[in-house]
Amino acid sequence: MEYRIAVIPGDGIGPEIIGEAKKVLDRVGEVYGHTFHYEEVLMGGISIDTYGVPLTDEALETARKSDSVLLGAVGGNVGNSRWYDVAPNLRPEAGLLAIRKGLNLFANIRPAFLYNGLEDACPLKKEIIGPGFDMVIVRELTGGLYFGERHTETVNGVRQATDTLVYNENEIRRVAVKAFDIAMKRKKKVTSVDKANVLDSSRLWRQVVAETAKDYPEVTLENMLVDNCAMQLVMNPGQFDVILTENMFGDILSDEASMITGSIGMLSSASLNEGKFGLYEPSHGSAPDIAGKGIANPIATILSAAMMLRFSFDLDKEADAVEQAVREVLACGFRTVDIMAEGMTRVGTEVMGARICERII
Ligand code: NAD
Repeated sequence: MEYRIAVIPGDGIGPEIIGEAKKVLDRVGEVYGHTFHYEEVLMGGISIDTYGVPLTDEALETARKSDSVLLGAVGGNVGNSRWYDVAPNLRPEAGLLAIRKGLNLFANIRPAFLYNGLEDACPLKKEIIGPGFDMVIVRELTGGLYFGERHTETVNGVRQATDTLVYNENEIRRVAVKAFDIAMKRKKKVTSVDKANVLDSSRLWRQVVAETAKDYPEVTLENMLVDNCAMQLVMNPGQFDVILTENMFGDILSDEASMITGSIGMLSSASLNEGKFGLYEPSHGSAPDIAGKGIANPIATILSAAMMLRFSFDLDKEADAVEQAVREVLACGFRTVDIMAEGMTRVGTEVMGARICERII
């Protein structure tokens, strides 16, 4: 098969890690008989330098016409870069918001997985980690509190600020469908997280999720209050398969879940629209402190490319092969600087990419 991928290297370590992810995709193409066509798109600081804005309409259009988008990271050193001496809507990160909105990417998917050999990076006690954990957080990304009406006013001489949290049933249903579809490819369990004991929006959330569950009789649905979920993540992370939640709860819980894996350079993510289209990117930023040194960990980006194979192209076998290659490379003791431990072999970005490629057979 042939696939057209819009590639956004971005800033900082972006071009370095994207280079390795492309090599891995090309290796997959070679072994499994696919061709990936890449079209490079500028976004972030490099787009500001070239066009004066973080994302041009043409760049957005190129992304829209592709089968999926692979993104490195955007942004510079916030305290020390000319990119930040301008209005917020002209800064590098504004490109991210614009592309997510422009492509209607409403479902954010972030796996949190503890790799064999990286247990020491996990801040939890060994008896809590048990045999490990492997979960996916599905977060609603374009609604809720972050997108509701807001204003600040002074009432009777007292300053007062208001944010509004609105969800309609269609917004809830479409992200719930994503979560149940993903659960069908995994351990078939969805934990829907809300605050239904207090919020109307959460009560509607719970109703619509229960209605959606009827179409997935093989999937077990449980409901959990968000405060309990925050505790359960650090008390018994192994109980979770797919966590489904709204925008703000997901923002907080997905950071908590990634924290317990202990390794930012390993965490992939996907943002999906109604169909098969998605934007795939590592969860970390552009790491300007190590840019150009050839030491960045490319694994999060490579695993994001694996998610693209699985979710956008339905190439599950190929995605499995990439994930297995990553596990093998780690089991052989290869480590980039961010996950280095005593007795392991330290490698740079390119060698890590090459070691992964040669295990895709
Ligand atoms: P960051 O994730 O870039 O870096 C945090 C720390 O983790 C740094 O010490 C960095 O060296 C390290 N690190 C990150 N990724 C790594 C990797 N692959 N390999 C090895 N080490 C890695 O976060 P930050 O420093 O807060 O932000 C830097 C810039 O990135 C800012 O401009 C920020 O706005 C931007 N940012 C962009 C995105 C995105 O593009 N989606 C996300 C977050 C931050």
